[in-house]
Amino acid sequence: MRMSALFGRTLRETPADIDHPSLRLMLRAGLARLTSGGITLLPLGVRVLRRLETIVCEELTRIGAQEIYHPLFRPFTASDRASESLAPALSALECTDRSGRSLTFTPSDPTIIASVAANEIASYRQLPALLHHLHPTYRSECRASWLREGLAWTVYTLNSGTNERNETSARVHSAFERIFRRCDIRLTLVEAGSDAGNGGAARAYVAISGHGDTDLLICESCGYAAVLDAARTTFNSALGASIGGDEPAQPEEIATPNCATIADLARFCGVPESATAKAVFFDSPERGLIFAVIRGDREINTKKLCTVAGVSTLMPARPEQISAIGAVAGYASPVGLQNRASGRALIVADLSVTAGSPLIAGANRHGYHLRNVVYGRDWRADLIADIALARAGDPCPECSALLRQATGLVTGYAERYSVAATGATFLDREGITRPIAMASFSLSLERLILTIIEQRCDQAGIIWTPETAPFDVHLIRLGKQDATRQAADALYNELIAAGITVLYDDRDDTAGVKFNDADLIGLPLRLVLGDRFLTDGLVEIKQRATGVITRTPRREIIAEVQKVRALPDP
Ligand SMILES: [Zn+2]
Repeated sequence: MRMSALFGRTLRETPADIDHPSLRLMLRAGLARLTSGGITLLPLGVRVLRRLETIVCEELTRIGAQEIYHPLFRPFTASDRASESLAPALSALECTDRSGRSLTFTPSDPTIIASVAANEIASYRQLPALLHHLHPTYRSECRASWLREGLAWTVYTLNSGTNERNETSARVHSAFERIFRRCDIRLTLVEAGSDAGNGGAARAYVAISGHGDTDLLICESCGYAAVLDAARTTFNSALGASIGGDEPAQPEEIATPNCATIADLARFCGVPESATAKAVFFDSPERGLIFAVIRGDREINTKKLCTVAGVSTLMPARPEQISAIGAVAGYASPVGLQNRASGRALIVADLSVTAGSPLIAGANRHGYHLRNVVYGRDWRADLIADIALARAGDPCPECSALLRQATGLVTGYAERYSVAATGATFLDREGITRPIAMASFSLSLERLILTIIEQRCDQAGIIWTPETAPFDVHLIRLGKQDATRQAADALYNELIAAGITVLYDDRDDTAGVKFNDADLIGLPLRLVLGDRFLTDGLVEIKQRATGVITRTPRREIIAEVQKVRALPDP
């Protein structure tokens, strides 16, 4: 490719309003432009995409995955609408075609995979099966608007049971690890929560950096890491206010006028917020009223609560639901409500109120609270679980060291589906019908590119590996003599004939401009052929990664370039 004809140019100035370093480099190097919908890849960027496609397809083929493709839109059916777990996500991407048909955008849809599997797979002999496909994605919840749309690979595994699913999951994981090694990037597998809708668990492949779009909590002591709203923590009594050695006193009602908030209550009583219990009410489609109790200084993690309670979504409770069980908003607690709430509300207690010290809780009477409320003695919950939003400084759930906040770019996901959720079945060895166990894995292409750039760059620009670079060689012609021009053109043609891809800077710019562009675009090898070549017959070779420059006789150039392109097996 001649640079004089390349669509998309390098930018000398960094776009002022972009604060993401790898996106800045992508824009400056002419790989992409930001347009209203997000990242538009230019030809150089698409070449990187194709290189990554090759790597991903090779590694997925190596583990036996076969490629499929399914439509991006499907009818939005009445059963989708009725499904509490699917409806919110599907309706967010609902559209209507000109004939008035209601459609939903499902670019990678496990229900389609399951329906295909239901038809194709009859016997255990056909399992496991691994399928993969490349498809567009859209994430409405993505914090960075320019990253909402993209391309991704999804791998589905179809298995005869959970053991086989674990085995194929390990195979896909090893393929992903090889992909990351071939791209020379380091990603961390972190907990990303579980999805009550499909009953599965999720983990995310994250590039931990200061410029990600996802908040994480990480433990530097044992390596535990999780997306913030999936992070677990642990509570022990040492974290609460001191209990002292004696049996806590009995609950005692105290007048607390105008103390409907935790902050007011703590101030009025002269205690920290952590010495109070907070009652939070939700309505849910599956369980109705949910009465969650958590220590006053903590917040409820609604995702965790959904999972624990087995509900798809949470909405604020209506006042009449709260009063129906005898609770008084602002002064509510589960103390004395067990029987009245039974069957009409699900009481869920966070570990922070069950493992700690006596707390000040509501008295279910306007203007009053109870002192010395102890879990187990004074009240009980239907469920005890970790439903707190974890935060930096909380103890690690694995080793109790303190968690630290970090940010990262989520580049892929690993998800398991509950066995029953797929609806597809097979006949086992004994001829018994059993459900197919599914799992899925995904990798985002744009995020992979951003991660490579972030982890492989310097002040001057990007440093591509030979395998991910948009071209193998950046050939620069310096000097304007006709003989030099002819010699450079001849070298360009010879490299191409040898199967080497070349970005040929044939422009009449200064050496400084050309060298800066070569460093910015970051191809692994830079060849320079100038007027001096006419006298000494040498071509300069610079390795972008090491900066090492050698001057090599013209006849050895092809062999030298091929030596660098020859890659060790990852
Ligand atoms: Zn730890």
